[in-house]
Amino acid sequence: MNMTDLFTQSIYPDSTATVGDVTYLLLRAEGSDDKRLGILGDSAGFEGERQGDLLLCPLTAGNAAALRAVLPWLQARPLGLQVSAGCGDRLGLATPGHIRSIRKARGVAPILAQQSIRENARTGRTPQEVMDDAMWGVFQEGWRDGFGADADHLKTTADADVTAAAGYTFFTVDPGDHVDDEAHTASLPDLERKFAALPWADLDSSPADLRARFLGSTFELEDRQLQFDEESLLRAAAKYSRAVTHAARMYRHLDSMLDRPWELEVSVDETATPTSHLEHFYIVSEMRRLGVRWVSLAPRYVGSFEKGVDYIGDLDELRADLAGHAAIARAFGPYKLSLHSGSDKFSVYPIAVEETRHVVHLKTAGTSYLEALRAIAQVDPALFREIYGLAFERYDEDRRTYHVSAIPARAPRPDTLADDQLPDVLDQFDAREMLHVTFGSALARYGTEIKSTLRANEDAHYAAIEAHFDRHLAAFAEGAEGK
Ligand SMILES: [Zn+2]
Repeated sequence: MNMTDLFTQSIYPDSTATVGDVTYLLLRAEGSDDKRLGILGDSAGFEGERQGDLLLCPLTAGNAAALRAVLPWLQARPLGLQVSAGCGDRLGLATPGHIRSIRKARGVAPILAQQSIRENARTGRTPQEVMDDAMWGVFQEGWRDGFGADADHLKTTADADVTAAAGYTFFTVDPGDHVDDEAHTASLPDLERKFAALPWADLDSSPADLRARFLGSTFELEDRQLQFDEESLLRAAAKYSRAVTHAARMYRHLDSMLDRPWELEVSVDETATPTSHLEHFYIVSEMRRLGVRWVSLAPRYVGSFEKGVDYIGDLDELRADLAGHAAIARAFGPYKLSLHSGSDKFSVYPIAVEETRHVVHLKTAGTSYLEALRAIAQVDPALFREIYGLAFERYDEDRRTYHVSAIPARAPRPDTLADDQLPDVLDQFDAREMLHVTFGSALARYGTEIKSTLRANEDAHYAAIEAHFDRHLAAFAEGAEGK
């Protein structure tokens, strides 16, 4: 059997695309997880091996760029106010599963290549690799309805540069390092000092101007009114003004650098305290005054959005909180409210969709890794046991940079479980969080095995991802209840 026979025996049928008299398709070698781009016809610009009529091209960055140039739907693009779902994929193998679910969720646009610089450091991937992995998945599934790419939690202009170069379209600027959390509880004299010391030149304003803009007015927003007094204004200004100027700096940097359409999200979701409605109002009125334009904003909501598990808190309080944030978003945009750490918050979705009137972005990341582990528990119990055992070892250390509350003593011990009980570990709260935050350790030790197992069992992997995202997207799709 020659190479062509090997590859042509397993075409991904949805990948086939014909432009003029050139056909592009994705192939997989029988009995192997090796994939190739096949080209029939003029293949100038691609690098590969000729096998009869076909050029068989490895999935390199160069071939990805060449393919993007001829098949424009493989380029990320802005999505505007369309309801959207961020499908972070730390392993770079989950996109086909995401697409299969997205296809069924009418009106929901996918944001596929979504990764923060912090995650890149932990997964050892570059923004370009994240983008290319997602693109090959889009090609494999023949998804032509567009997708966004989220350069998540950007902190510096250098972060912006490297992701802009990789073709990202949705830039999430996180000015959280510039939020002064002390201002939340500082005494009035301290607050006065903080206020006086704000970067007034960068704010293009003065203390008197700022007071004149906000004090003595009642801001009418639909069914509610917002009013600042001296203290609430000083607290909001002291806490968020440096974050506002940083967001403006990032916006201007991106705007001057990008000569293609792009969009901005501003996230303040990783602050120490929830974002009050007054603070949200303050942040967006100041950003707008400074010329910033954004499509999406992530406040920190009340209650607890822990990683990979459902909402912890009072849903009525959350509804009231979302209602106020959504009213501000309509008044100053409209822009989407963004749900960060949004995976697995099944009780929140109908409320968020209703209160935002379907102007909403859902951001998920580690949950796809967890569902990949569910697939591994099904097809390679021994490997899953190792990964789960490592989670017990590493949890205390690895949890430090995450917002989680798992207690390992409550999670089932690996040695007490039969093989067929292992997939259910992913449904146990403590185990799920432990596995979530130890992903960097798991990838460092078992990354090669994890990826090769998923590649060799991709149907099981895609099915696990698809089923999990079906549960996420149902509430966001057109025709869902509550709209
Ligand atoms: Zn976030």
